[in-house]
Amino acid sequence: MIEVYSHADSAIVGFYRSLLEDAGIKTYFRNEFVSGAEVIVPVFYPTICVIDPEDEARALEIIKNASLPDLTAGPDWKCETCGENVPGTFDQCWNCSNPDLTP
Ligand SMILES: [Zn+2]
Repeated sequence: MIEVYSHADSAIVGFYRSLLEDAGIKTYFRNEFVSGAEVIVPVFYPTICVIDPEDEARALEIIKNASLPDLTAGPDWKCETCGENVPGTFDQCWNCSNPDLTP
């Protein structure tokens, strides 16, 4: 078992793990249910381990090349005022500055 990635945010760790699983690499998720808020000294971050040591280099390569999605962004939305499609990372219309009225 070799640790390849660790981060306090289990959503980010989960994202990388799914990339590795998609590539056919068997992984093991350690400390999956530990939340950073519950531990005083956050030494037990969620950690991805590869089961087969031969997968380590490939796993590290995948993690290095992955671009992390913005996990806080919602889906794109359509401006009620001008009808433009606005990326989920914007909370107001880039075109007419109207706020997002969708719930
Ligand atoms: Zn607009």
